Amino acid sequence: MINYKKCIFCNSSLFKIVHEFSAPPAGETRYSYLDGKPYYRRIKKCTTCSHFFAEHDFVNQNLYSGEYLKSVYGDLDGISERFSKVMNLSEDSSDNRGRVKFINSFFREFRGLNEFGNRSGKSADMDCCINVEDGVRRIISEYSNSYEKNVSDEKMSVLDVGSGTGVFPFLMKESGWNVTASDPDGIACRHLTEKLQIKSVQGKFEELKLNNSFDLITFNKVIEHVIDPVGFLDKTSDLLDVRGGWLYIEVPDGEMASKCGYSRQEFFIDHFHVFSMASVALLANKHSFDLEKIERLREPSGKFTIRAFFKRK
Ligand SMILES: [Zn+2]
Repeated sequence: MINYKKCIFCNSSLFKIVHEFSAPPAGETRYSYLDGKPYYRRIKKCTTCSHFFAEHDFVNQNLYSGEYLKSVYGDLDGISERFSKVMNLSEDSSDNRGRVKFINSFFREFRGLNEFGNRSGKSADMDCCINVEDGVRRIISEYSNSYEKNVSDEKMSVLDVGSGTGVFPFLMKESGWNVTASDPDGIACRHLTEKLQIKSVQGKFEELKLNNSFDLITFNKVIEHVIDPVGFLDKTSDLLDVRGGWLYIEVPDGEMASKCGYSRQEFFIDHFHVFSMASVALLANKHSFDLEKIERLREPSGKFTIRAFFKRK
């Protein structure tokens, strides 16, 4: 059984077992790799940084290359149906639309751009700088000079990791980004390429072979599914633009979810990790990223979520 001796974020060895499961909670997917084993797992909390670790015997390294998507959505038509259903949600009830809006607002604020199809720098938003403190004006100006120099009329690029049904990359593309989607699942990639006309690459993130680099890499509810989220982000250094680059990380919020009990989806069996504000901040630090922004929210779907932007130092 996975048994953490030290917290992978803060190195503390102070843990408390906060919940034990002897049966699956309502709503949890019954994966075939769970068959034939007695159901036991527990949630251990680091009492220093408040990160939650899942400990059990149920590990399937290839879950996301086939069974996960098949168990949740069925076949290619099932994914397309799910895509259409989510796309039809209103702006206020869609987690994905909220996410895209948040990302675009962040880059408007930090880049001083008014459109994502245009990286040429001087935009109407830059004029707002005359009303702000000198320090802020200087920071925005430094961003423009260091990063946008020699770049004009070029779309910002994003690599989305674990794209699944493709709603998020589709909306990002619609709002002006140059999007590359990725997923370990072959059917998801067919859906992305054939049905949504989005450039996509199939494979596990840590094994992706790409010749280009990106301004932004997005991990929407991805890193809680891997056993070692710290090591998982090593790959980002090869893929971010050398002039800078950001990560957008979105994870389940264990601190808030645990107040409502451990049967919630944030603690379902496919999550090896459920995060705290501190563990997300420490994750940035482990990879020499600056934590540019972090916040927690309750999403329209009811999920408790932490979202953050890391910037390459
Ligand atoms: Zn810790």
